[in-house]
Amino acid sequence: MVATQLPRLAFAQAYDDPEDIYARVKKSPDLRLSMCGGNIDIAIDGDSRPLDKRRIETWVRRSASAVSAYFGRFPVDHWALLITPGEGNRIGPATTWGYPSSVTRFTVGRDVTDNALREDWVMVHEMTHLALPRVPMSSEWFMEGNATYVEPIARAQLGQITPQEVWRWAVDDMPKGQPKSGDEGLDHTHTWGRTYWGGAMYWLLAEIDIYKHSNGEYRLQDALRAINRTSGGNTALWSVAQVAQAGDAAVKSNALTTLYDKLKDRSVAIDLDGMLRQLGISEEEGTIRFDDRAPLAELRRSITSLRKTDKSSTKECLGL
Ligand SMILES: [Zn+2]
Repeated sequence: MVATQLPRLAFAQAYDDPEDIYARVKKSPDLRLSMCGGNIDIAIDGDSRPLDKRRIETWVRRSASAVSAYFGRFPVDHWALLITPGEGNRIGPATTWGYPSSVTRFTVGRDVTDNALREDWVMVHEMTHLALPRVPMSSEWFMEGNATYVEPIARAQLGQITPQEVWRWAVDDMPKGQPKSGDEGLDHTHTWGRTYWGGAMYWLLAEIDIYKHSNGEYRLQDALRAINRTSGGNTALWSVAQVAQAGDAAVKSNALTTLYDKLKDRSVAIDLDGMLRQLGISEEEGTIRFDDRAPLAELRRSITSLRKTDKSSTKECLGL
């Protein structure tokens, strides 16, 4: 038994290098999908059964639909995805790179259920990373916060989850992004809470500022789409200032730039409760409740709704 396993182990490749992953997917993709302007090549590294090609395709298509609805197209022209089957039923971990092209390695347990795949958020999170340029690692929070903020919203816009679920995360998890003692600002404090939830708070603050500054004409989504179109996605490497400027220009504001300057080098506690109150979001007896008389209730409703101007084009591209 050991003897027959040895040669396989000797030749097994760890796939830690995005160039190797890209080459592997390009050489022999098991699936090729075309979704809303994006060509997706998927390779499965070994025997994934009972997670077969058909189930992987359903999962990828569902996630790609949500991300495409949010960004108005699949965020990159070409994406290489390597599925590495693992033990058990776990979804993830996954890593996304922007070189030599847009590449993701995704581990998923062979025993994962269809229900878990339907409810999965990790695939949408990784696809959201494709949309924006990469930035220096000191500002990892900028990208992780963006994926954390956008992922549930993208799913809610297509009705895959409820608005209550979106805001449940803001109520329960965003407080983990507040600075603790010794914090030196988002660019200098690389803890899990600051990176993911501190970053997500930055994007929620930007959402509100863009809406207020434009008297309701623009959303953060407009800025993010513009950044995506200008950069071409995560194969580009930009400074945070460049990304912020591209987004600000599209919504005629300086929200992204001003917020970055304010939060990058300093410990700034955010009035999260005040923001949620303005949006009309509260938790009563364990349930997320909405107040439609709140000053930013219209913004809250629109964040999780498919855009009226998008509906026909999005439906067409998603085949709805
Ligand atoms: Zn991430």
